[in-house]
Amino acid sequence: MKVALVTGGSRGIGKAICEKLGEMGHFVVVNYSSSEDKAKEVVEGIKEKGGSALAVKADVSDPEQVKEMVSFVEKKVGPVDILVNNAGITKDNILARMKDEQWREVLETNLTGAYLVTKAVIRGMMKKRWGRIVNISSVVALTGNQGQSNYCAAKAGLIGFTKALAKELGTRNITVNAVCPGYIETDMTQSLPDEMKRAMVERTALKRAGVPEDVAHVVGFLCSEEASYITGQVIVVDGGLSL
Ligand code: NDP
Repeated sequence: MKVALVTGGSRGIGKAICEKLGEMGHFVVVNYSSSEDKAKEVVEGIKEKGGSALAVKADVSDPEQVKEMVSFVEKKVGPVDILVNNAGITKDNILARMKDEQWREVLETNLTGAYLVTKAVIRGMMKKRWGRIVNISSVVALTGNQGQSNYCAAKAGLIGFTKALAKELGTRNITVNAVCPGYIETDMTQSLPDEMKRAMVERTALKRAGVPEDVAHVVGFLCSEEASYITGQVIVVDGGLSL
């Protein structure tokens, strides 16, 4: 049984990834920042299906909380073998009106958060000479999106981070890949204006919004033994939105 840590596993895409990794027989550590009840529900759901899981609170943008989370996990269940950097937020605004705080919060959670958690778990993977890291980027890292310069910068940063790390860690048999979802129905996209949601579906070749499971299946595969020769790649899961 491998230990899988999913950041932001309490809701949406992260929740579906936790469930998928649980079904694959891994011990799932469900990280969250504030939704304790939802994280516990994810844990219970995995356990009901015969899997093993644990919820751990930590704000991924806080170096101390990340260190505490990883040392707690290592003591409790052992080193992390699979890391999915999924936690993410949006603070949309056009650049002319963007507040420094909006820029900082999005970069610190979406990009620095991935750096902090990855750095905290990497030694364990290097020692074991086995590891899987999947960074959840976004299709807008590749296409850009108005009102999201902070988010696009952070998500594009994750792609560079992914490729650099794939080169650094290849000799240790650790793969590092990025997954770029398109428009997926979650809390994050729920508050978007209906007109914008309709327009995104219209631009999507498959003419439907994605569901979290569409992303989770791909992440599950990238974390599997079968994907051992795939590294440094950017896999777009967008139903053809970016075509
Ligand atoms: P949700 O808003 O539904 O869920 C976000 C998750 O991230 C929650 O579990 C939340 O925890 C957690 N989180 C937020 N901030 C932190 C933090 N500082 N520390 C730890 N956890 C945190 O988002 P989605 O499921 O839609 O998105 C998941 C990922 O997929 C994100 O990285 C997002 O950018 C990306 N993505 C989403 C797309 C979409 O269409 N939905 C498209 C492309 C990419 P809590 O519940 O405790 O708040």
